[in-house]
Amino acid sequence: MRDEKYTGEAIDVTEIFGCNVFNDKTMKERLPKETFKALKKTVQLGLPLSIDVANVVANVMKDWAIEKGATHYTHWFQPLTGRTAEKHDSFISTTDDGGVIMEFSGKQLIQGEPDASSLPSGGLRSTFEARGYTAWDCTSPAFLKEDASGNVTLCIPTAFCSYTSEALDKKTPLLRSMEAVSHQAVRVLRALGNKSVTRVTSTLGAEQEYFLIDKKYYDQRLDLIVSGRTLFGAASPKGQELEDQYFGAIKDRISTFMRDLDIELWKMGISSKTKHNEVAPSQYEMAPIFSTTNIAADHNQLVMETMQKVALRHDLVCLLHEKPFDGLNGSGKHNNWSLSTNDGQNLLEPGKTPNENEQFLIFVSALIMAVDRHADKLRASCGNPGNDLRLGANEAPPTIISIFMGDELTEILESIAQGKKSKNHGQRVMDIGVDTLPAFPKDNTDRNRTSPFAFTGNKFEFRMVGSSASVSGPNIVINTIVAEALDEIATRLEKAKKSGTSKESAAIVRDTMRKHGRIIFNGNNYSKEWVTEAQKRGLPSIRSGVEALGYMANPVAEKLFGKYEVLSKKEIRSRYEIYLESYVKHVGIEARAMVQMVKRQYLPSVIQFTGRLAGAIHQLKAVSVSAKVQKELLEKVNDLLESANDKLEKLESAIARAHRVENLLKRAEAFRDRVTVTMNDLREDIDTLEGIVPSELWPVPSYADMLFKL
Ligand code: ADP
Ligand code: MG
Repeated sequence: MRDEKYTGEAIDVTEIFGCNVFNDKTMKERLPKETFKALKKTVQLGLPLSIDVANVVANVMKDWAIEKGATHYTHWFQPLTGRTAEKHDSFISTTDDGGVIMEFSGKQLIQGEPDASSLPSGGLRSTFEARGYTAWDCTSPAFLKEDASGNVTLCIPTAFCSYTSEALDKKTPLLRSMEAVSHQAVRVLRALGNKSVTRVTSTLGAEQEYFLIDKKYYDQRLDLIVSGRTLFGAASPKGQELEDQYFGAIKDRISTFMRDLDIELWKMGISSKTKHNEVAPSQYEMAPIFSTTNIAADHNQLVMETMQKVALRHDLVCLLHEKPFDGLNGSGKHNNWSLSTNDGQNLLEPGKTPNENEQFLIFVSALIMAVDRHADKLRASCGNPGNDLRLGANEAPPTIISIFMGDELTEILESIAQGKKSKNHGQRVMDIGVDTLPAFPKDNTDRNRTSPFAFTGNKFEFRMVGSSASVSGPNIVINTIVAEALDEIATRLEKAKKSGTSKESAAIVRDTMRKHGRIIFNGNNYSKEWVTEAQKRGLPSIRSGVEALGYMANPVAEKLFGKYEVLSKKEIRSRYEIYLESYVKHVGIEARAMVQMVKRQYLPSVIQFTGRLAGAIHQLKAVSVSAKVQKELLEKVNDLLESANDKLEKLESAIARAHRVENLLKRAEAFRDRVTVTMNDLREDIDTLEGIVPSELWPVPSYADMLFKL
């Protein structure tokens, strides 16, 4: 985070832009010393919070929020919709003498009952026990949300669960998975001789890709409004082939947006760090400085929400869909993951001599083991309808999961596996041959942008996650599968220690490489050869999200998530149903939007054009002039019109039939296999027509309008 050698004077960003986060600094200034200490201890040791501490914190938090203009507070949570939810309560209460006061108790801070019965529960909330509770996650700071009209709300990050203690949200299992991985990582460290570490935290830096388009074009497209992506649209003559967008100079309008976004994020304590143009036209990316996973997950939700909110202030619309434009790069999230000890070590830091770094090699082995065993679950954690369109297309990771380790580290791991002494390449200095530029150390790993799970120096970057998705799901999976691998490793190390066996660590690396080395692939993941090679290695390639979801709900998954108390069978089942249903609903919305657009926009426009052509043919005939071109064009357009109309009918009947399928999985499959295919068919005709019909008759803005007119 901070550069240790930096000697300049640091400036507190909140002093310049304002502070909307109840962070350590604010707490230290305002809370009684004892309360602050007690709260910090609770957070650091993961202890339950006492009501006495909560009462003091609540009162101080309320005063702070009211000073900043807040009148309401909300327990802010992350239901299984993948979005966030909030129900606002004002601070006011009445007094016996008829007065109205503002107050906020410890109980109101730590627990809420928002009802929220319309949020998906996958059968977990039958009517007689329909209550839903929220509980304060005191490890993630409270913050203020400000809207454009000046309303300020105190937001308290919370977990959301049912009366029967089942998780109804994304945060609860994430926190549980963090516990699991911490526990097992500490065991491993103990067995390796570390006596001081008491907690290990998973860390996350979520890079976020997005598109921005002018709101006036967005408003004219029903597909964007209801589904977030273009369901029609002929390719623009210019796409991303010139590679002139990636890292290009940022246009003023966008740069003004980015500045406002940064300031809003900084105020909420979100350390937005880098911003740049991405590969596709009108595509951008922001990356924050990494933090503890649950905080980073909260922050990523706020990043997405703030991007959309701030964009509107600039008459822009921020598209977070995984594939808003066909034929161009889609958007993802790069999920940078690592493990940090409470004494500040990054457990994936190879150091200068990785070949001698037992701790590093053991933790890397755990990752290799975990990813190879549970690639299917990782794939499932990224399965949403948008990502189905993105994975495996235009510079997106394929649906096959492999790990990029880089040649040097792979060599080290392989020599250990073969019982050979591994060479230490040391940290090589890269000399770029210009004297005035400094020589800099070469990373132990080069970059491989095509790998879905890449080791990038001191962390793993999981690149399969979709841009609109919550990062909780993928991190729940990573934490849990790594916990399982570390558990196994810890048991081996503990046993070896007892029996006085030496070199157990080397044996663990060797066994890992023999059994799971097939998951390492340092080549081009976008190539056709890799698909064949992966098949040979027996690595799964799971094409669709619907199929992938099944791997998160089978007996293997139930056993794994049950063992580490991350998700119960019931919770897994409910999530499976919710996600399948969500798939059906998403595709249903898209299909119905297509039907409406064709019936009410495209067909009428094309019919108008055919009328115009027919009129022209008539007029030419009347003056005995050949109407050859007009006739040919009319025939062509009319053929396409008829074909589109046929396909429209087919789509309508496919939707109706799919909806009638009783079994949920079969219904989702019907949408995936029948409805989406008919949708693509229909799109083809309409897109061809777009290339023929005069632009003034075309009812919606084109790809070129949306992507290049900013
Ligand atoms: P790049 O994508 O080019 O590798 P960076 O190295 O700057 O860029 O990191 C990208 C993201 O990874 C940032 O959000 C950064 O904060 C995050 N990151 C860096 N170190 C860690 C870590 N130890 N754990 C989790 N995320 C990290
Ligand atoms: Mg990146």
